[in-house]
Amino acid sequence: MNEHPETQWLSQYVLGNYGRYDVWPVRGEGPYVWDREGKKYLDFAGGVAVCPLGHCPPSVVQAITAQAAQLIHVSNWYCIDKQAELARLIVEDCVGIAGKCFFCNSGAEANEGLIKLARKYGQASGGRYEIITFTGSFHGRTLGAMTATAQEKIHGGFGPLPPGFVYSTFNDLAALEAKITDKTVAILMEPVQGESGVHPATPEFLRGAQALCRKHDLLLLLDEVQVGFGRAGEMAGWKAIVPGDEIQPDGISWAKAIGSGFPLGSFWLNDRLSPNQLLGPGTHGTTYGGSPLACAVGLATLHTILAEKLCDNAKQQGATISQIGRGWKHPLLKEVRQLGLFIGWELNADAIQPHAGSKAPSIYLAQKLLDAGLMVTPAGPNVVRWLSPLNITEAHVNEGLRIFKEVLDRI
Ligand SMILES: *Cc1c(COP(=O)(O)O)cnc(C)c1O
Repeated sequence: MNEHPETQWLSQYVLGNYGRYDVWPVRGEGPYVWDREGKKYLDFAGGVAVCPLGHCPPSVVQAITAQAAQLIHVSNWYCIDKQAELARLIVEDCVGIAGKCFFCNSGAEANEGLIKLARKYGQASGGRYEIITFTGSFHGRTLGAMTATAQEKIHGGFGPLPPGFVYSTFNDLAALEAKITDKTVAILMEPVQGESGVHPATPEFLRGAQALCRKHDLLLLLDEVQVGFGRAGEMAGWKAIVPGDEIQPDGISWAKAIGSGFPLGSFWLNDRLSPNQLLGPGTHGTTYGGSPLACAVGLATLHTILAEKLCDNAKQQGATISQIGRGWKHPLLKEVRQLGLFIGWELNADAIQPHAGSKAPSIYLAQKLLDAGLMVTPAGPNVVRWLSPLNITEAHVNEGLRIFKEVLDRI
């Protein structure tokens, strides 16, 4: 008899929109997961940057069970104390600029909120509506967020796409300035592009984009869905690029790490926009967003990141990883890009491709690493990302580096 009928059910009943690895995780603890055969993996994929505290962290498990036993959901027709508490924590201890938060369930939804904000702001200031986004970006899969994503392969076959998005080259300030018209209302960017392979904005680009925003009355919108809350070693991810208070965004979106795997997203709007007038009652909303349970999880996650100084740990462990990795001068590696524990290993595609057959080098290497017990996340054809928990120790770092190097050496 078939020991695992789910194998058949997954292909028969679940949409085949993902290229999945044939690994079936069933349990997790800290940076480790175990599959249904009992094989143990060191998880440096972290659910794509979703598990800053690792799997089943005690503070989050405790918050979920306590809140679930008390009150799981009420609608936003009522006042939700945990929502107020989480918003205060984000504004005061993470962003540090006066503003207001909205809670939703995912990164795409958070970006949709920023897009709607930009439209509203543009309507109120001369009928502007164009949002400039950048090559290599990723903003999510809803119609608006995917159109904001300046990648042909994401758009393919889904037209007509909503109008009002203009694409410019990432890290090219002159190109950006040339795209600004009297219809432009906002610039939306990831301070560190994740899906395209851990590409940080340069400090000059981020500063220059802000200067253009001030000059032309544009909103500076930052997609911090992947980089936010400690991934790059800062609660405010853009501070890993331009430290201090110099960058003052108008809007920020988050998801991923904020919920430790519980669906939670958020956006923040700068008080100087009078956000309560732009997005007042009736203009925006979502049924689940900011439920007591979701916000309890967000609070436990962010409190733990702050209390355990995990930004510092991310900076430290990340620096060790990139230093050792660069020291290998491995013929299969071209470059290591690293901010905190946001790490992109750029592969030497020419050297790996002959082994990878019809697969992309990143997909091939990730499979080999899985076989050896290390989970990583491919990013584009030639980069694998390490998005480990922020609380890993030196022992985990050494274990990950050992497996990684052994597999590279074997190829
Ligand atoms: C993952 C991601 C998104 C989309 O988030 P979802 O929760 O999948 O909708 C948006 N922006 C960035 C930068 C991301 O990494």
